Amino acid sequence: MLLQKAVKSGVSFMKTKGLKVEHSSETSVVHCGNDVELRASLVLDAAGFSKTLVEYAGDKSYSPGYQGAYGVMVEVESHPFPLDKMLFMDWRDSHLDDAPAMKAANAKLPTFLYVMPFSPTKIFVEETSLVAKPAISFPELKERLDLRMKHLGIKIKNVEEEEYCLIPMGGELPIHPQRTLAVGGAAGLVHPSTGYMVSRALSTAPTVADKIVDALDSFTGKEGTRKKAVSAAEADRMAAAIWASLWPEERLQQREFFCFGQDVLLKLDLQGTRDFFDSFFTLSDHFWRGFLSAHLDLPNLIKFGLALFLNACPDAKFNILSKGVTGLPIMLGRVANAPFYMSYD
Ligand SMILES: Cc1cc2nc3c(=O)[nH]c(=O)nc-3n(C[C@H](O)[C@H](O)[C@H](O)COP(=O)(O)OP(=O)(O)OC[C@H]3O[C@@H](n4cnc5c(N)ncnc54)[C@H](O)[C@@H]3O)c2cc1C
Repeated sequence: MLLQKAVKSGVSFMKTKGLKVEHSSETSVVHCGNDVELRASLVLDAAGFSKTLVEYAGDKSYSPGYQGAYGVMVEVESHPFPLDKMLFMDWRDSHLDDAPAMKAANAKLPTFLYVMPFSPTKIFVEETSLVAKPAISFPELKERLDLRMKHLGIKIKNVEEEEYCLIPMGGELPIHPQRTLAVGGAAGLVHPSTGYMVSRALSTAPTVADKIVDALDSFTGKEGTRKKAVSAAEADRMAAAIWASLWPEERLQQREFFCFGQDVLLKLDLQGTRDFFDSFFTLSDHFWRGFLSAHLDLPNLIKFGLALFLNACPDAKFNILSKGVTGLPIMLGRVANAPFYMSYD
């Protein structure tokens, strides 16, 4: 339906692969597979995390954390989960009691269980690493999930579907502004502490689309019925205005806080992670929902951080202080646009 609507509105589709883009004049040229060349006033990269067209300051500057998950939709003899609830962030590790090496690995780099029951004999189960750098491998996630199922006495009759998930989170944003525009993963929209992006990308898309229309209307001359920039400098200004709508100052500040959050999460072991989320999920809805959905601005995020700290047990307080001590000045320096380069690595 969406595709039909797009075609009706004049969108044309082509089966090829974008390889590189050149912006030598006011017109951009996308070089695609099969020697196809596309010319455009504006080029927008929606190719996810492939890093094909948008440019980064350098390969080393990207350095994201990774959320990894292995999940299966399975038919089972029976399961213990209530049908009217989904289970999220089960950090228990008793399923590893007879596997000391795996238990030690999980204590250092913890993963949690996620369950969505569909019927008394059908469930979706997933083993998730919230964030790790480098990512926890799929075989390890699968092994941990298998032991959980065994421990819960769940006998799998049939695997209907397997899901492999690897989401780059945080790291440096693409250079912005740049002539190539971006949305979604290509624009760095993934929440650096949670890995969520889909709802954010959907809510951002109309703003960016409006800004593109505005830029074409206000900056450009007309050639026939088609609007286009009349010089490379004008095309640069158009792109800059659109990037500014995607990453306004307050969003950049918010993202710095989320990257700081990721830095703390990366340093927490299993017990530290449990303590952290005990405090997190007993905060007011305003704070924990606002943090997850990226609806808190920087002043509110600072209040959130203080509330999280005050709410935490003594061990968690110590952890937050000791794990955050190096990241906090980096975050503050980056928020304040300090004139020297600082990264969490
Ligand atoms: C199993 C799984 C579960 C997930 N669950 C969630 C969740 O619950 N919530 C959430 O927010 N996120 C979730 N994610 C992450 C989410 O799917 C991604 O963040 C999101 O899909 C990124 O969207 P995107 O449109 O930027 O890129 P993509 O969805 O990756 O789409 C990019 C498209 O561009 C195409 N492409 C790539 N390179 C080129 C090229 N050179 N030329 C032309 N086309 C190209 C690709 O084939 C693809 O079709 C999950 C991911 C996985 C794998």
